Amino acid sequence: MFGKNKILKIEQHLGDFLDIQEIFPTLQGEGPFVGQGAIFIRLGGCNLKCNFCDTEFDSFENFSLPEILQKVVELSKNSQQKIVRKLVVITGGEPMRQPIEKLCKELIALKFLVQIETNGTIFRDLPNQVKIICSPKISNHKYHILRPDILQKIDVLKFIISANNADYFEVGEVGQSSRDDILIYVQPMDEYDEKKNKENLQRSLDLCAENGYFLSLQTHKIVGLK
Ligand code: SF4
Repeated sequence: MFGKNKILKIEQHLGDFLDIQEIFPTLQGEGPFVGQGAIFIRLGGCNLKCNFCDTEFDSFENFSLPEILQKVVELSKNSQQKIVRKLVVITGGEPMRQPIEKLCKELIALKFLVQIETNGTIFRDLPNQVKIICSPKISNHKYHILRPDILQKIDVLKFIISANNADYFEVGEVGQSSRDDILIYVQPMDEYDEKKNKENLQRSLDLCAENGYFLSLQTHKIVGLK
């Protein structure tokens, strides 16, 4: 969307229907579950607009919870009808913008491992089994500091790194220093420019070498998956 999306409000309802951009099977390409067969549920809309954002999330349709679960179960199976994808990644846009509590509970009851990818600005009281990967974002040259309630629930922080964009040059302090058990990943920003991307990778490698961070690459792009 490259910062051209509409900012959408936080939805409060029972979560029996959700605005979905798409549901698709793939391999998780980033972060701690990289390489694992997964079903992505991409929720529509975001409460932020980031100028580097290359995800399409502004066109969506409203689906009922049973319709979503049926699709996920269908996509979890291989051609022999055996379940081979046990990870469900709920992403966006910003997935916490909509009430996903019920969806998470139902997926856990179906024995899926559930991972959320969030910008960390909205809190939802999700089941403890849900793995929360937070990628903090910047507005007006400042990181959004994580809310204390979401900070307590986060498993991994993933920072986007750019050698060319001063805002994303460093790993920012968003509250993580109050916890010593959050894993920190750094991921080179994709600026759709070979030279800049090489510099972003080098900057990320330097941050890993200096601080012991984990490197996250967008492997789905490298191997040509969605
Ligand atoms: S918070 Fe994430 S999904 Fe929303 S605009 Fe920023 S990068 Fe895109």
